[in-house]
Amino acid sequence: MAKKQFKSESKRLLDLMINSIYTHKEIFLRELISNASDAIDKLCFISLTDDKVGLSRSDFKINLSVDKENRIIRIEDNGIGMDKDDLDKNLGTIASSGSYRFKQEMEKTDDVDIIGQFGVGFYSAFMVAEKVEVYTKKYGAETGCIWTSSGADGYTVKDAEKENAGTVVTLYIKPDTETENYSEFLEQYRLSELVKKYSDYIRYPIIMDMTRSKVKEGTEGSEKPEYETVTEAETLNSMVPIWQRPKKDVTDEEYEKFYHDKFMAFDKPAKIITTSVEGVVTYKALLFIPSKTPFDYYTKDYKKGLQLYSSGVLIMENCEELLPEHFRFVKGVVDSQDFSLNISREVLQHDHQLKTVANTLEKKIKNELSSMLKKDRETYESFFSEFGRQIKYGIVSDYGMHKDSLKDLLMFYSSNGEKPTTLAEYVDRMPQEQKYIYFAAGESVASISKLPQAEVVLNKGYELLYCTQDIDEFTLQTLATYNDKEFKSVDSDDLGIEPDEKDEKEPENSADVLKFVRDTLGDKVSEVIASKKLVSHPVCLTAKGGISFEMEKYFAAMQPEAGMKAQRCLELNMNHPSVKAMAELIGNDDEKAKKYAEIFYNQALLIAGLPIENPSDYADLVCSLM
Ligand code: ADP
Repeated sequence: MAKKQFKSESKRLLDLMINSIYTHKEIFLRELISNASDAIDKLCFISLTDDKVGLSRSDFKINLSVDKENRIIRIEDNGIGMDKDDLDKNLGTIASSGSYRFKQEMEKTDDVDIIGQFGVGFYSAFMVAEKVEVYTKKYGAETGCIWTSSGADGYTVKDAEKENAGTVVTLYIKPDTETENYSEFLEQYRLSELVKKYSDYIRYPIIMDMTRSKVKEGTEGSEKPEYETVTEAETLNSMVPIWQRPKKDVTDEEYEKFYHDKFMAFDKPAKIITTSVEGVVTYKALLFIPSKTPFDYYTKDYKKGLQLYSSGVLIMENCEELLPEHFRFVKGVVDSQDFSLNISREVLQHDHQLKTVANTLEKKIKNELSSMLKKDRETYESFFSEFGRQIKYGIVSDYGMHKDSLKDLLMFYSSNGEKPTTLAEYVDRMPQEQKYIYFAAGESVASISKLPQAEVVLNKGYELLYCTQDIDEFTLQTLATYNDKEFKSVDSDDLGIEPDEKDEKEPENSADVLKFVRDTLGDKVSEVIASKKLVSHPVCLTAKGGISFEMEKYFAAMQPEAGMKAQRCLELNMNHPSVKAMAELIGNDDEKAKKYAEIFYNQALLIAGLPIENPSDYADLVCSLM
């Protein structure tokens, strides 16, 4: 029979697995059991509404068996099974994002110790097996099939009779080598140990025939007890889902393991939230706030939602309605007996019970984040650097509907110090006479703090918020005020700061100078004014009409066709020696004065981080005056 080839990236993953020198090869069992459990979840869900399945909740199970002599391990489930197409799609290519991510990381680091952090999936079987056989029948299909592979040279699929839906995975365990003892996996006790270690919370029984010696009946307690060997089917796992166990009985490691296995995550959660609610809807939830942004978080592949269980039966993998957009990074499960089991997914979407749960969960998450901010600042800061953007989107979206509930979760860098600040802290530090909350936007803290128009605010000793993310200014615009204090961009005309007494008065010829510059620059600027805020710099460019330069850059990247432009207002420091020098030239040497005006304009563009229209002309211009 012709061998089919693995898709190339799957082949690479397979190679990694086959040649793995990884010490925790034992995780193959966890992966195969977890696949079996997922397959059962699917059929179990169908059985709720389809009598033809002919199985009830308690009939679903996973059988584990081992044949030491022939070096074989079998994992059997009565789940949904696969047909030929599924086999090609699922076992011929990297199916899960977990394994894909793993492959990518491996290619970067070649550090095999990271295997345990990923849901590496089916291919991990090849860490211990020289050949793998998958005998399976899909629910509803006429016939079954067998998939066989000895690794990288490909796989075969052929038809095979099989009575019931489900899958049997057979592993032909590798012979021992000088350094590797694969035979340990052929010991019942070792497998049973592994199930307890990694798969205890699997909600279906994992059953294995355990052989052990036992004291013969009637001889126990006697002087010479007699022993016999018995084989009994034993359920190896406790089957209590982790979210049903009291928090005090569960270790952080167990929660983390669950988080990694279930959600393909590999970070340590920033916060583990458990909640048990009795009321209109009674439910338990176990939620995780990640500490790292998942690699696909800002792509369409990332699915928002919580897993929804009804009395231990998984009814939805990603129930989106349970989470608001602004908390889409949260992972977890919700289990409630109040959701009727035969509910269809469409009905579920409009279920008001679901809304009730979603509302209480949103409050819970918000409170947990607030308390993290108060009690564990460092963790919060690192959380915010990962997901702050999402919170800001939350404020801006839906016409600012969520701004009041989210505003206290915000953090910004500011001139107050290295660490980010909350708005409440900023307002607390404001001197009595300070009218506004000042902010400035730019690419980095360093570039903003050097903006000429920031100087007057900073010189006055007022704190300045640094808007370094493109979404920041939109966020502050949406908020408009915090604690009745208005936000004010340093670009605004009137910063509400009185000039110091000692400041020089504007020269008398100001109006003529401004008109001259305006005429010289023409359409390039919308206005030329005498600055009230420049201190030591000669010029700056400020934006008028609500669109700032940072927004202009943002729109230029996002919707270039819209041609969204900030209105450019050139501010001149009339008392600056170089501006005075230009004023002197006007009327005496207008050509030279025009050159000054052009140079001022280009300098202002550079400082604002905007491209100058023609760099070589500008260079020539500067040289012509040198
Ligand atoms: P993952 O389980 O992370 O998606 P795997 O590589 O472990 O990735 O499995 C790939 C796919 O193969 C699964 O998503 C599933 O569709 C299918 N599969 C694996 N094992 C089984 C099984 N025992 N029964 C039914 N389908 C299975």
